[in-house]
Amino acid sequence: MKDVIVVGAGISGLLSALALAKEGKRVLVLEKTEHIGGVCRSYNVDGYQVDTGPHVITRTEHGPLKELMDRYFDVVPNFVPHGGYYVRLNNRIKPFPWNLQGWFNFDLIPQIDRLYLIKTLFSISYISNSGEDLSKKSVGDLVGNGLSNSTMTFLNCMSYFMTGASMNETPVARFLDAEHYKSQSKNPLDKLYNILMKEGAIDQVYPKGGLQSLTTAILSSLPGNRIEIKTNEGVVKITDNKSKRVETDKDEYKCKTVVYSGFASDLPKLVDGLSNGYRKSLEKLHKADALTLWLGLNKRIFTRDGSEIWADSDPYAWAVPVSNYDSSLAPEGKQLVGFAFRLPKNCDINKEKKRAMQAIFDILPEIEDNIDMTHYQVLIPEKAAWTIDTVFADVKTPIDGIYLVGTDTERRSMGITRASYSVLNLISILKKDGVLR
Ligand SMILES: Cc1cc2nc3c(=O)[nH]c(=O)nc-3n(C[C@H](O)[C@H](O)[C@H](O)COP(=O)(O)OP(=O)(O)OC[C@H]3O[C@@H](n4cnc5c(N)ncnc54)[C@H](O)[C@@H]3O)c2cc1C
Repeated sequence: MKDVIVVGAGISGLLSALALAKEGKRVLVLEKTEHIGGVCRSYNVDGYQVDTGPHVITRTEHGPLKELMDRYFDVVPNFVPHGGYYVRLNNRIKPFPWNLQGWFNFDLIPQIDRLYLIKTLFSISYISNSGEDLSKKSVGDLVGNGLSNSTMTFLNCMSYFMTGASMNETPVARFLDAEHYKSQSKNPLDKLYNILMKEGAIDQVYPKGGLQSLTTAILSSLPGNRIEIKTNEGVVKITDNKSKRVETDKDEYKCKTVVYSGFASDLPKLVDGLSNGYRKSLEKLHKADALTLWLGLNKRIFTRDGSEIWADSDPYAWAVPVSNYDSSLAPEGKQLVGFAFRLPKNCDINKEKKRAMQAIFDILPEIEDNIDMTHYQVLIPEKAAWTIDTVFADVKTPIDGIYLVGTDTERRSMGITRASYSVLNLISILKKDGVLR
């Protein structure tokens, strides 16, 4: 019998398995697909190494991934700085306004709107101190209707990338960055100082060698004698008895503790006896799909050090020239660029693929004659998109010994950072529950 079975070998499952094994537990990881890494992988297409969606890893100086790496990794990836974020609007391009000085220079939107938005930031700081819940107040509610079209486009574009939804469905709290928002100081002026004087995306990085190097670093750090990973084994049932019985489509296993890292909303299909109230709360978790279009280009069209947010393309796009971070990701003399788009609900994928390609040509026509490789991916970036009506799952389920981990159990930050927060949370709950010492 194993101590712990981890269901799913994405980044949340792998980080959990690593931490538990390093804490002395015997761990079995069961993954339903043939791949290890979930949406944190890379693979080869016609000589280019593409990631599962363009990625930038955040909060690497002081955040949760750093904490996990310091505690449990034997091997760490070689990270390179992400560089700047640039916004393209009305055919002009400017650095993303991270701070007060950035806002003064961000003349892609009218000055009067910038002053209004800065004033709004002041008011948010006071609203948050008055106890109003900023996760229920939308960006649209806060800014109203009096802004120019360019400003509305910019705010909608940013909302779209942060949550997959418009500014009217995006909570203000999503923009405030939970760390600054919950900053240690209760003084509103300190909070405001943090928001207005941020240095920018200084602790955001790309892993050299591609996203795969993060997954490979975890795999290389696993203590082989205490951990086993089985792929192509989907878990179909988890039964709660004195010990837990975990059935897959091939076999069955016993363990004391289960850590489930698939979609929390799928848990009721696997576990009997969950109350109606709990099932209903899991049903409220909703997700937005993303389309990535990878293009291999015959020449280096993107020369900036960083990525570009295209607010004037239809649909909005995020362009990340990953081979600028590591030239070995593309054949010599070529460039690899990932373009990410959010997908509308119930859309026609083929139509969206065509729209995405056309949007790229509309913004940079010279791309059309320089395409060497084309590759599409449809993936789910986060298991819970944080919009106004989103409810997150808890790491602790109502059943003793069954825990959840992953991006639908945590609202801080995004993607890999969010997954890392959830794993730290799991470790501290397992300590409180006496599973770990
Ligand atoms: C286009 C795109 C862009 C992104 N950009 C960024 C970014 O810039 N920065 C960032 O930090 N993050 C980004 N992300 C998000 C980040 O990659 C994910 O949030 C993170 O990798 C999710 O990890 P996870 O382990 O929680 O989930 P997953 O990777 O989904 O892993 C879950 C695993 O569980 C397995 N599984 C599920 N059910 C079962 C079952 N019943 N039995 C066995 N196995 C099961 C699945 O097959 C899967 O392998 C992006 C993602 C995409 C798609």
